[in-house]
Formats: sequence, structure tokens, C-alpha cells
Amino acid sequence: MAERVLVVGGGVAGLLAARRHARRGAVVTVLEAGDGWGGRVSALSLAGLQLDAGAESFATRTPHVEALARELGLGPDIVAPTRAPAWVVGPDRSYPLPTTGWLGIPTRPLHHEVRRIIGWGAAADAALERSRPLGEVADDATVGSLVRSRLGERVADMLVAPVLTGVYSRPLDELPLAAIDPTLPRQLREAGSLLALAERRRRLAPAGAAVMGLRGGIWRLTAALADSAREAGVRLVAATRAESAEHVDGAWRVRAGGGTLVADTLVLAVPRPAARSLVPELPEAPPERRVALATLVLRAPELDASPRGTGVLALGGVTRAKALTHATAKWPWLRDAAGGRHIVRLSYAVADPAEDLLAHALPDANRLLGVDLPQSRVLASTLVEWLDASPAAVADRRPLAGLELVGSAAGLSGLAAIVGAETPGT
Ligand SMILES: Cc1cc2nc3c(=O)[nH]c(=O)nc-3n(C[C@H](O)[C@H](O)[C@H](O)COP(=O)(O)OP(=O)(O)OC[C@H]3O[C@@H](n4cnc5c(N)ncnc54)[C@H](O)[C@@H]3O)c2cc1C
Repeated sequence: MAERVLVVGGGVAGLLAARRHARRGAVVTVLEAGDGWGGRVSALSLAGLQLDAGAESFATRTPHVEALARELGLGPDIVAPTRAPAWVVGPDRSYPLPTTGWLGIPTRPLHHEVRRIIGWGAAADAALERSRPLGEVADDATVGSLVRSRLGERVADMLVAPVLTGVYSRPLDELPLAAIDPTLPRQLREAGSLLALAERRRRLAPAGAAVMGLRGGIWRLTAALADSAREAGVRLVAATRAESAEHVDGAWRVRAGGGTLVADTLVLAVPRPAARSLVPELPEAPPERRVALATLVLRAPELDASPRGTGVLALGGVTRAKALTHATAKWPWLRDAAGGRHIVRLSYAVADPAEDLLAHALPDANRLLGVDLPQSRVLASTLVEWLDASPAAVADRRPLAGLELVGSAAGLSGLAAIVGAETPGT
């Protein structure tokens, strides 16, 4: 009898794993609690447009997502975002971030883009970092302590913090360098200085944009992947939540939709807390943060000239939002599709579930974009809440007999990491 595989979770990771097992001859079923496929990579209908509800791009640091898109026939639709610096809006000033940097660390501290922000004196101090002995770098050294002591407070607060705190939702002084990439402390010791490390990492980055998207939205990737899984023979069952899982007599018995499914292999492709509630033997996961994404469709000729480039990072609590993406400035295909309207996405850290975050969206957009649009210019708006994993990869992706952890359940975050982990030889 062919092996029976049950995949719980129909996001990108679950769909990829399902297809892999089906292609090697297993009988595969995917259970998805939601109505549609793609999880955090899915579509949102707003004002007659199909928009990305969550993820909107993929990192190009590895070739795997692009290869997957090509394999799914989406190659011709891979598009680069508009090249424009990100802006920082703080309580006292607004400025575009330098284009020559890595994680906000300027590879050329004396460049005029950097001097304009931190001033001559701080730039000259930072430029001398290469010649200062590195000393001990502990494995748990924080980005804050390293950047402050070596490149100065201004580099830390004005250049690095805006880039990293938005991504990692932690102050620099609580963000270990190893949380960005576990090999970075070692790489820093080898490079001998932060500037040398930044330069090396930038040189290693592939030419072209750091992220790419798909014409029509990145959700098309998971839509095509669901079709491809179906073609490979996978049975996709939506609107059915797995409620519990037990390993009995060499088989997994999973309760869902009022019945019990039996499988030889169980693949968990759900966020780590959900995985642990199904299989309590799994190690405790760090709590996932709740994030919310507000999307506004605006009538705003004031924004035609993209006054803040493609996006803004909010600094010093200047708005309730952490960051804003001017999506129609970032993606030319979306600008064409939006027919003169503007689409703006604002991201929020959810503290109190009862807080009306959408009420902040227009005032925050006005502050971050430097305009003063009245409510009447909001043609449509919506707010979607997500769990956002703090990246903490699990040590063992096959922790029990017949159990496989993929994607979020394996502590992976982002398309590049998740698709990369499914690619043979990585
Ligand atoms: C707002 C936001 C923006 C992002 N932007 C980007 C980006 O631009 N680029 C990028 O690379 N990454 C981005 N990410 C990260 C990326 O989207 C995720 O890392 C990735 O999509 C996770 O895929 P997954 O399949 O592991 O999990 P998910 O996409 O979360 O899929 C898990 C699925 O499991 C289902 N599920 C949960 N519990 C059960 C259950 N008990 N039974 C059945 N089904 C269940 C859920 O409904 C969900 O569909 C973003 C994340 C967020 C939250």
C-alpha cells in the first residue's frame, strides 16, 4: 500500500511538502483551516483589485524562489520593485536612508548620503572603525552593543535601528547579531571589523534588487503551487482544521472536520504554537507576535510623485504604525492596475486586540508620507491580522517517528528560507 501522508496547513510550506511527497508516490491530503490556499501568501480583494494580503515579495539572496516561480510558469511575471531609497520619518526629521549599506551599516561612512544624516564628525569617527582592533565578540553580542561601541550612537540610532527594528520588532540593544544569521558572529571575527563585514556581505549579495515580486501579486505563487499540487495528485481539503494528533500503533490519527484521518507520515506546516497544540511533545516555541497590515486605497494626486519613495520606516514612536509601503510606487504593475489610485500598506504591532488600528491608518499615512489627505480620499480600506514568527529555527525537523516539520513549524520565516529548505541540496 502506498504511504499515506497528511499535511496540516495549506500555506507555501505545506503545499510544497505535499507536492514533494505526492511526486514520490505517496497518497497525500492537505488540511487547511482557512477557506483558501497560501496562508500568509494569499490574496485580498479590495476596491476591485486583487492585492497581496500578507507577503508581497521574495528575497533574492538565494535563487530558489525564482526557480520555483519559473517552474510554475510564472517566470515572465517576475518583476523588480522600483529602485528608490527607503525613508525614515522621526520626531525631528525625515531623511532617505543611504543606498550603500548592509542592515543599515554604511559601507562608505564618508559618502555624502551618510554625512548628510549623521554629520561630518560622526561619519569620520565611523570611517576609522576598520583600524580599531575588534577584541572579543561574544556569540550573544547584540547589534546595539557592537554598532554603538564601534560605529557610534548616531550610526546605531539613525541608520541601523530604522532598518532592523522594523524587521525584528526589538530594540537594537536586545537583538543578538546571531538572531539575524547564526554565522554572523564568526563572520565578524573573520572580517575583523563591522565595516569589512558589511562590505563583504554586500559584495556577496546577488546583483540587482534584494527582493522581487510577481506581476499581479506574490499570492499568484501559492495559487499556482496549489494547482501544481493538485496536478501531482494531492487532495486539498480547505475549511477543515486539524484539532488533535496522536501517534498510535505506528500511524498518526488526526481529528478534523468531525472525523479521524489516519496517516503514516504527518507533516506539520502551521505556526509553531499551532504545531505544539497538535503534538504536545514538541518543544515550546517562542511566542509569535501579532502584526496587522492596514491597506488603504487612496485618491491622492499628491502622491503621484512618490514623495517618500517606495516606503517609510517610522522612528521614535512618531506614528502608531511601524512602517509604510507605498505599494503603487513600489510596484509599477500595481500602479497600472490601480488606474490613478494609490495603495498604501501600513504595518502595526498588535498590543491590544481591542484597539482599532484601522483608525490610525490615515493619520499615520499622512504623517509618514508628508501629506494631509482628508478621510474622503480613502476609497477603501481593510485590516488583516497575522501571526508573525520570530525566526528561531528548530533543531530537529523530524523530532518523532513519522513526523515532519516544515515552514513555520520548523521555525523558518520568509519565502527564501522556506522554499530553500524544500530544494534538494540546500
Ligand atoms: C504581514 C506579513 C508580511 C510578510 N511579508 C513577507 C514578504 O514580503 N516576503 C517573504 O518572503 N515573507 C514574508 N512574510 C513571511 C512569510 O509570509 C511566511 O514566512 C510564510 O508565508 C509562512 O509560510 P508557512 O506555509 O510556513 O505558514 P503559513 O503561511 O502561516 O500557513 C500556515 C497555514 O496553516 C493553516 N493552519 C493553522 N492551523 C491549522 C490547523 N490546526 N489545521 C489546518 N490548518 C491550519 C493556516 O490557516 C495557514 O493557512 C510575511 C509575513 C507576514 C505575517
